[in-house]
Amino acid sequence: MQPRYRFAPSPTGYFHVGGARTALYNWLLATKHGGTFVLRIEDTDESRNQPEWTDGIVSALEWLGIAKSDPRFEGPYFQSDYAAQHVAAAQFLYQSGRAYWCDLTSEQVQERAKASGTAGYDGYSRDRGLEPGPGRVLRFRVPEGRTVVRDEVRGEVEFDHATIEDFVLLRGNGTPVFLLANVVDDVEMAITHVVRAEEHLPNAPKQQMLFEALGRDVPSWAHVPVLVNEQRKKLSKRRDKVALEQYRAEGILPDAMVNYLMTLGWAPQGDTEIVPWSTMVEQFELSAVNHSPAFFDVKKLLAFNGEYIRMMPPDRFVDAAEAVLRGPGMPWPAERFDAGRFRAMAPLVQTRVQTIGEVPAMVDFLFLADPAVDEADRAKAFGAEWAAPALGEIASALETVAWSADAIKAAVEAVGEARGVKLGKLQAPLRVAVTGRSVGPPLFESLEVLGRDEVLRRVRAALA
Ligand code: GLU
Repeated sequence: MQPRYRFAPSPTGYFHVGGARTALYNWLLATKHGGTFVLRIEDTDESRNQPEWTDGIVSALEWLGIAKSDPRFEGPYFQSDYAAQHVAAAQFLYQSGRAYWCDLTSEQVQERAKASGTAGYDGYSRDRGLEPGPGRVLRFRVPEGRTVVRDEVRGEVEFDHATIEDFVLLRGNGTPVFLLANVVDDVEMAITHVVRAEEHLPNAPKQQMLFEALGRDVPSWAHVPVLVNEQRKKLSKRRDKVALEQYRAEGILPDAMVNYLMTLGWAPQGDTEIVPWSTMVEQFELSAVNHSPAFFDVKKLLAFNGEYIRMMPPDRFVDAAEAVLRGPGMPWPAERFDAGRFRAMAPLVQTRVQTIGEVPAMVDFLFLADPAVDEADRAKAFGAEWAAPALGEIASALETVAWSADAIKAAVEAVGEARGVKLGKLQAPLRVAVTGRSVGPPLFESLEVLGRDEVLRRVRAALA
């Protein structure tokens, strides 16, 4: 039988990076084992039933390379469309004696637990033979014994049923709980492999009992470790940047994101973690995934992105950067963007940025009529007594020098030699005068691209 994997997000309005990793694991495994990737939207919570949220999930998956149009992709299915099957399964469990009705309110359940000093529901209605009725919940009759969850990441995890209460299947208003809906959907969609976040591991023994009680095959389980921040705390929306959309907007490339997410808790063979998707498909095994929480390191993600930018064909880099540089939100009017200048600088920029989003700040001096001067940089660059006079001499030399980076460099060097100032130091006032800042792409190439007239105009303005 062909394996059937699934990704079953509950819509939240944004796409969590942890969800992205879970989706990628499932997609990769479906690819590797010739199976299917089912997308199921777990939308039974009314407030989560927003069509644009589903569109957001589909487009985030597409961005990651998991395309709806791919023959391996099936869905999206909606949990809310399976309500009748959820209730039918609950009925079946009741009729076969595996579930019973209970009329205690949750307050009453808590009071009984407090009085007896035990945690959770005590099985009060197990043998009361109640019929269904308003406000009554249906509970699963957890048998004595233990359940062993065979997990492809964690090995055999044993759960003693003494620690599992008779859990609710249908709420007092008749709606199914997540545990049941999720299992029934997996049955309906013939899912063979459940690969999901570790936070669902405690659900697995209960769900395994449900599969068995429904007379269905238990899927193969894999619970993948949570993602944590640098304080080893679980990534949270309030504290951390977790939305895939945000990284996308900030210029993270999909290939870099995919590669980075795949290395959280797993590493390809060899001495680099930067490997193409085909290598990951070839090498990845759930059994090789680490058990411990994985640190989602934004700095490392940026470093991956920088590597991917350097691997881009130069034309693609130029196109991607130009889309930003010509777009809205740039500090220069659109007509001042100069494609020729940018293309001349592009190779020097491509090797120096970690995201496309960093490009504008690196080349703004090419398009701004008068780049804003960083006052701290200016104070430092012009602090020494020699700085202003040396810059004056440089300006005179640049009036006649052949206009190429090498010749400009030689001219500046000559001024430095005459004054006993090293080139590195001498560059600072020149750079600040022309670009407004003391850091940026290689200076002499930048001057060459900007052109003699503009360079001299800015240098003279700085001296005045
Ligand atoms: N809807 C659940 C979630 O988003 C996933 C359940 C599952 O994968 O079994 O956490």
